[in-house]
Amino acid sequence: MTPFVRVDMLSSMNNLPPTLSVVIPLLNEEEVLSQTYTELKQNLDALGESYEMVFVDDGSTDRSRAILTELSGRDSTVRVVALSRNFGHEMATTAGLHHAHGRAVIVMDADLQDPPELIGEFLAKWREGYEVVYGVRLRRESESMLKKATSYLFYRLMARIADIKFPPDTGDFRLMDRRVLDVYRQLNEDPRFFRGLISWIGFRQVGVGFIRRPRYGGITKYRYSKLLKLALDTITAFSTLPSLIITLTAIGCIMASSFIALVVFIGWLFGRWDIPAWGWVSLGFLGLWNIQFGCLALLGEYIVRTHRHVQHRPLYVLDALIENGNNTPTTTSLFGVRS
Ligand code: UDP
Ligand code: MG
Repeated sequence: MTPFVRVDMLSSMNNLPPTLSVVIPLLNEEEVLSQTYTELKQNLDALGESYEMVFVDDGSTDRSRAILTELSGRDSTVRVVALSRNFGHEMATTAGLHHAHGRAVIVMDADLQDPPELIGEFLAKWREGYEVVYGVRLRRESESMLKKATSYLFYRLMARIADIKFPPDTGDFRLMDRRVLDVYRQLNEDPRFFRGLISWIGFRQVGVGFIRRPRYGGITKYRYSKLLKLALDTITAFSTLPSLIITLTAIGCIMASSFIALVVFIGWLFGRWDIPAWGWVSLGFLGLWNIQFGCLALLGEYIVRTHRHVQHRPLYVLDALIENGNNTPTTTSLFGVRS
């Protein structure tokens, strides 16, 4: 009789990396964890692939860690990466991705807002050859109008000002191929914006639509102050347009006021206008103000360039080398690395 061996156990017995890792960052999610685990497990079992679940405890102060420890004790596909304190969602996601072994890795929230049923579709797209498959929120249930509106505006703004293509209405819920992960591991910038970095890495990316469910339990951990910080981090990390706008405004101001000063001076020279003392003082201040504005813009341009340099991103990422008609997909050793 052939003994029944589960696929997920096979991979751990052979020490082979599982096909799929699911990374779940969480903070104080005791109300939802058991349900998330159960639903996720059901969906993963149905796929018939080897898998692991990597839960990242981002410094929870409730029973989340105890629940996860218990789960990992009875299920070898559960791994727990516990951080020493709350480092924030972005860093928790990073830690999970660093510890995931799968050939494809999925990131999802712990509150079941990202439906685990979509994982099958993600996997199918991955098998078609896409290196990144991201969830597109077609509709968001039970989120406040303010949150929906700010998020809508933010994505439209980023689509216009970002240096790279930002797919709108996407969250962190996505699948990435190991090649993407290997590049991601080289990106150590802080602050970091996971979705932006994955967009920056490139390769073949595709969206799959879904309806974002309400939270299964507990409350959101993203207050508006956190969202505002995230928006600022994202804009400064992925757009140089604000600095360019300042520089162009400064150039415009300098040109306009130089023209006015010249006209006034010529008018005075040819005796057309009688300029009172305060007029000369005003012109002097206008000149000084413009010099200051120009210097500020110039400093901004230097800071933007320094900022870009200290992010230490690779200069480029290779997809393939094609020689003699043979397409050889590259590995991560083929980066353009800053010296
Ligand atoms: N989260 C985290 N660390 C934090 C804040 C949030 O790991 O400092 C997790 C949280 O537990 C959840 C995910 O990040 O799994 C998304 O957070 P949340 O659902 O509160 O955000 P929302 O969906 O309301 O934007
Ligand atoms: Mg949520």
